[in-house]
Amino acid sequence: MNPLLLFTPPAQPSYMPFGISVLSQYANERGTTLPALDLNMTSWNLEVGKDTAAKRWKSFTRNEEGNFYNPESYLDNLRWRGEAFSWQQKLESQCRTFLNTGNLPPLLEEHFLEHVRSIQTFQADTLLFSAMFLPQLLYILAFTRFLKMYKYGFTVYCGGAALSALDLNQFSGIDFIDGFLQGEGEEAVLSLLTGTSIEPTHPVPGMADFSYFNLDDYFTPEPVLPAAFSRDCKWRRCRFCAHNFSFAGYRAKEISAFSDELEHYKSKYNCSSFYLTDQYINGSDAVKIGNELSLRNSSISYHFMGRPYEKDFNADSFDTLSRGGCAWISWGVESGSDRLLDICGKGTNTPGIEWILENSHNAGIINMLMMIFGLPETSHDDFNRTINFLNRVSPFTTSMTESNFVLFENTPFGKQGSRYNLRMEEPETLCMISGKPVFTYRRNFSQLYENQWHPSAGGDELARWDKIKTWVMPPSVYSYLPAEHYLLYAIHARSRSHGKGLPGGRAA
Ligand code: SF4
Repeated sequence: MNPLLLFTPPAQPSYMPFGISVLSQYANERGTTLPALDLNMTSWNLEVGKDTAAKRWKSFTRNEEGNFYNPESYLDNLRWRGEAFSWQQKLESQCRTFLNTGNLPPLLEEHFLEHVRSIQTFQADTLLFSAMFLPQLLYILAFTRFLKMYKYGFTVYCGGAALSALDLNQFSGIDFIDGFLQGEGEEAVLSLLTGTSIEPTHPVPGMADFSYFNLDDYFTPEPVLPAAFSRDCKWRRCRFCAHNFSFAGYRAKEISAFSDELEHYKSKYNCSSFYLTDQYINGSDAVKIGNELSLRNSSISYHFMGRPYEKDFNADSFDTLSRGGCAWISWGVESGSDRLLDICGKGTNTPGIEWILENSHNAGIINMLMMIFGLPETSHDDFNRTINFLNRVSPFTTSMTESNFVLFENTPFGKQGSRYNLRMEEPETLCMISGKPVFTYRRNFSQLYENQWHPSAGGDELARWDKIKTWVMPPSVYSYLPAEHYLLYAIHARSRSHGKGLPGGRAA
């Protein structure tokens, strides 16, 4: 068997695939050669070769034209980005058409043929696709159907976190995927390749091998690599969360081993900026990592996601994090209403969150808030509390993301919908395969909100937020940056300000 790991569109061209890089290294350490190919980048390279907007966007993000680190220049060049991504929207709709009708539109055929050419250079006979998100699963379904239709003769497997977002029994009749690999990839893939049963991986698999990718292809002016300290979530109690179904339980690396790993990437790939992909890193572990990197004088900078629980931090925590190279934290704040935080099971409270944001900002770390509008049981009062909260923390906040609450039937909110005034409606359709729908666990729903049933309270709340956000949390260039660019901007902002006068937010 000649296996090949594959990461597919649609994804950002600044993102280097992490899961398949870990799998490749994991198999290699156990005597199995398992190369990896980034088909998302194959597609981007194809578009850069023929499309002006994609080419201009790449030149700008690699700092070959314009000035990447100048916010005005970045905003000015966003016009290229919009057009540069249009191929992804077109391919998504063409994948749906192809899966339903068997008619292959020319652009989709062009990308699929380019993928086949890249795959054939590896002389692979077994393809292992990784689907991180549902749009990638849609793409994989279409591509594998194409491979079968034109008799390329590959054996095809599919795994990845996206598989936990739908019932795989729906695929029992399809013949273009030979098997689905559920759960964490390492044991599933190695069991398949060796024909033996491999136990779940404890501890967390170590290094990733990025050497199959050309770092110069990626749309960043300097390398940014993904890395992970832990697997799964230490908290696991948020009632809306659908992130952890494919994991085999929480575990983390040794602090010193993780620091060694980052230093190894630094010397091997000449990269000192890391985007940590953990669901979140709990405060005390984050501080230990910061302390270790600071003692080593490693000159590494990084981002992580945090749960803003104040008992995990003390007055010195953020200085330690900052000294250790932490440039940016994305905080799972979700709401500015303590009542809604309780209903969600977040375990946090607004005074604690405010204390954290202020201290983090004062230590020179950029704060990004991740907010959810339209949470179950929300009311006008809860919305106003959130706006007041955002007003208070705005001086310490560089940017925020606002999303509409999404209901998955396999989450606690989904399982106990009536208790939270949610009325489940039809499931979301991922695609139609030859006239037959493929459903996901995501459900449309009605929500009892201010004594009336609404399609989603989030729509109303987001519309209201849209009207006032310019005054509460003025948008800046940070509102437009993909993760890798955001990290580089955060690092540059810190180096310019020496930890003071960070960008964003209203003046205090
Ligand atoms: S939202 Fe984050 S902290 Fe909450 S359960 Fe999910 S991964 Fe864990």
